[in-house]
Amino acid sequence: MALISSILQNAKSRVSLSSSNVSSYFQRKICQTPRVGVIRPMSVSTVNAKANDRKEDIVIVGAGIAGLASAVSLHRFGIRSVVLEQAESLRTEGSSITLSKNGWKALDAIGVGDEIRSQFLEIQGIVIKSDDGKELNAFGFKDEDKSQELRVVERRVLLETLASKLPPDAISFSSKLAKIETSENGSNTLLQLEDGTRLSAEVVIACDGVWSPTARWMGFREPKYAGHIAFRGLGHFPEGQPYEPRVNYTYGRGLRTGYVPASKTKVYWFVICNSSSPGPRITDPSILRQQAKELVRDWQVADMLTLINCTADDTLTRNPLYDRWLWPLISPPPSIGRTVLVGDAWHPMTPNIGQGACCALEDSIVLTEKLAEAMKSKHISVEEAFKAYGNERWRRVFPLTVMANRVGALLQSENKLICSVRNNIIVPKLLKPRTLTRHANYEFEQTKRNKH
Ligand SMILES: Cc1cc2nc3c(=O)[nH]c(=O)nc-3n(C[C@H](O)[C@H](O)[C@H](O)COP(=O)(O)OP(=O)(O)OC[C@H]3O[C@@H](n4cnc5c(N)ncnc54)[C@H](O)[C@@H]3O)c2cc1C
Repeated sequence: MALISSILQNAKSRVSLSSSNVSSYFQRKICQTPRVGVIRPMSVSTVNAKANDRKEDIVIVGAGIAGLASAVSLHRFGIRSVVLEQAESLRTEGSSITLSKNGWKALDAIGVGDEIRSQFLEIQGIVIKSDDGKELNAFGFKDEDKSQELRVVERRVLLETLASKLPPDAISFSSKLAKIETSENGSNTLLQLEDGTRLSAEVVIACDGVWSPTARWMGFREPKYAGHIAFRGLGHFPEGQPYEPRVNYTYGRGLRTGYVPASKTKVYWFVICNSSSPGPRITDPSILRQQAKELVRDWQVADMLTLINCTADDTLTRNPLYDRWLWPLISPPPSIGRTVLVGDAWHPMTPNIGQGACCALEDSIVLTEKLAEAMKSKHISVEEAFKAYGNERWRRVFPLTVMANRVGALLQSENKLICSVRNNIIVPKLLKPRTLTRHANYEFEQTKRNKH
């Protein structure tokens, strides 16, 4: 961790682009750099920028995990960006996510790891049971690798901490991207917001989540529904929660539940069920609570009912799960010219291996480092930097997306034989600590290069 911080510190001093000279960088760069390999989807229209369009150097679309992490990382390189967020404020509603070692490495790289870490418990291990209460397996996450780290983090704390590291005017709320076009001479991207505001951007970093309008514009197909729905919440125990810091997982047929202490007073829980369709969007907390309780009613997991009962309304969520497989040769690249996709906007994945946000954070670090390097270099264009990002990150995120989907299929199976093999052979005999933690062993390419 210290190594990554020091690399980024070095990179920061090497790049040293002040906010004021970023604009002049782009003016210079556009004149100097041949626009190599700019691919545009067939349907993309081009328009002329208008004189009164607001000009921005770097626009980040979406103030979620990827958008804010990218903005903070650029800020640390001395590079100004503007973050457009469709909501009126940070979207802090909702529950929590687990962050593994790779997520923490990324947060350390942008200087917020310890501040967030200090508010959440380190989870020591996992106990897996079947729905009749029988223990199938149990182990510690550090049993085979002491460097592993897992904590449940409240989404609210993660977003607020990242936002607090940005200048006060860095995030523009109530700014929903409605239309995106390339300017006629191909040098800029034109963004039109829902309220009619028009921006002309040199670089667009699209972190606009699973339903990304930017990804659609770039020719990506819609994410695919995986057949499962997740109910989640955060149980609140003002007098202190009673559980040990471990993951408590229960596997049933077509249904699984789990709970994990997040802090001294909060416990994260989830229930995942099968459903042939995503169904209507439900946000009414009383309905969500009722549906979650109904799902676990017959199970020998008394704790789940307690947890669901003591959950604050604003942390109750219901999410149908989606992903998009980035098939080689079929899926478009994540960048067109100087517009690039990051996080769920590019590779939505199901949460079955807890890697969506961790990978979004990794993306942000890799991308912003390459962008900063390109802005400093006379030899690398931003377009080339984005292509290098796409190549490096595709190798990482495509296999994880597929793996997460397949793990979900096994855990949500309703087939009696498959459930029996899972509960009697796979989980007790084959599941080892490294099976669960190996995907968290990610090293940033930059770190690898610096080691050699
Ligand atoms: C049930 C569930 C459990 C999960 N558990 C985990 C876990 O344990 N560990 C883990 O690592 N990951 C987990 N994930 C995945 C994780 O939540 C996502 O991968 C992560 O939030 C992606 O971050 P992002 O910034 O790419 O997208 P988001 O967090 O979705 O942010 C996108 C942002 O863009 C904004 N936006 C969208 N459209 C526009 C527009 N047109 N104009 C302006 N702004 C726009 C949105 O309002 C939002 O703020 C889970 C996901 C689900 C559904």
